[in-house]
Amino acid sequence: MDLDLSEAERRFRAEARAWLAAHVPRPALPSLETAEGFAAHRRWERTLAADRWSAVSWPEEYGGRAASLVEWLLFEEEYHAADAPGRVSQNGVALLAPALFAHGTPEQCARLLPATARGDLIWSQAWSEPEAGSDLASLRATARPVPGGWRLDGRKSWSSRAAFADRAFGLFRSERHPDRPHHGLTYLMFPLDAEGVTVRPIGRLDGKPAFAELLLDDVFVPDHDVVGEPGRGWRVAMDTAGDERGLTLRSPGRFGAAASRLARLWRERGDPSDTALRDRVADALIGAEAYRTHTWATVSRLAEGGSPGAEASLSKVFWSELDLALHETALDLLGPLGELADSAPEAPDGGRWADGHTFALAGPIYAGTNEIQRDIIAERLLGLPRGRRR
Ligand SMILES: Cc1cc2nc3c(=O)[nH]c(=O)nc-3n(C[C@H](O)[C@H](O)[C@H](O)COP(=O)(O)OP(=O)(O)OC[C@H]3O[C@@H](n4cnc5c(N)ncnc54)[C@H](O)[C@@H]3O)c2cc1C
Repeated sequence: MDLDLSEAERRFRAEARAWLAAHVPRPALPSLETAEGFAAHRRWERTLAADRWSAVSWPEEYGGRAASLVEWLLFEEEYHAADAPGRVSQNGVALLAPALFAHGTPEQCARLLPATARGDLIWSQAWSEPEAGSDLASLRATARPVPGGWRLDGRKSWSSRAAFADRAFGLFRSERHPDRPHHGLTYLMFPLDAEGVTVRPIGRLDGKPAFAELLLDDVFVPDHDVVGEPGRGWRVAMDTAGDERGLTLRSPGRFGAAASRLARLWRERGDPSDTALRDRVADALIGAEAYRTHTWATVSRLAEGGSPGAEASLSKVFWSELDLALHETALDLLGPLGELADSAPEAPDGGRWADGHTFALAGPIYAGTNEIQRDIIAERLLGLPRGRRR
């Protein structure tokens, strides 16, 4: 692996850095999990899109820069180092778009991607159900074929940002194959303001209102909103789950920037005699750098035609545990002050450590729990015998 950047990559990085220095909003935007913050983050997506920074790796015709994976990594490093806002368009940019590129029609790409890049369409992911999280293939929400489209019924749960988003994409059972639950699933997209859709917020630990469940009662979806072949939605979903866990959901730039902030916090407030805490700060820096190096190796492999595959599970476990350790270290360093939320004027760093810690607690759960990822690592990467299924 050659880690030297080409001249063009160095120019790309410099252009991103200069643009971010000129445009990142100050003071920081309110949390995107609130109505006010969501609207502000949507405006930020439009600002990014105006100069084609909202989806850098997409083809130019859809609003991207056709950036390579290496350039995407560089952009992410610059983005997080500049302390730029969280990405409210992440579901659309990082999860739906890869599904559309791989399995969608040109019409779907032309209709949906430019609006997604501009933040005019913000997506929520409607995969999980109350009885179908880890065992996603046991999902019960149905898609029934009708002339010109499909009728959806059922209940989708744990949908991030759904309270304020515009549309959702999800998996529905369109045929029954009791012995083969992965068969007969269809991947569909639908508007959240469609007749028959009820969006019901779910309370979160931090009290923010964006998380929701979706109740679907005879919701019509036209044929042109099916992604891939009807009945083969599992394949579409699994292709994108690999992206989510392994690479695009949590770039190393995010943890590198957080670890640098933690080191700064240690220099400003740390007690030099507390070597145990100092070691944890060092571990966080080392972990962030290890994740960065691992990701560069993955990207090199993908550039040579490989795919993320089961290795995505390794990344998922690593980044979620790193995030938690990093935030726990920060809270221990801050003592009682670390417990102040972002609404408290005295909260250090605007309350981002307490806020980040609450969010990090969910990291080992969303995008597939770490227990499930460890099963995948044991069976598919280490070749250990299959565990007993529940
Ligand atoms: C903050 C947050 C955001 C989320 N956002 C979204 C979203 O936008 N869209 C969406 O569709 N979903 C979302 N989810 C849902 C998430 O994907 C599920 O919570 C997750 O897949 C786990 O499913 P579950 O909650 O049903 O738990 P369960 O599957 O019931 O698991 C409960 C526990 O049992 C363990 N377990 C289950 N089966 C096994 C097994 N075979 N072997 C070993 N251990 C097992 C699990 O690891 C877990 O610890 C989100 C969740 C969170 C917390």
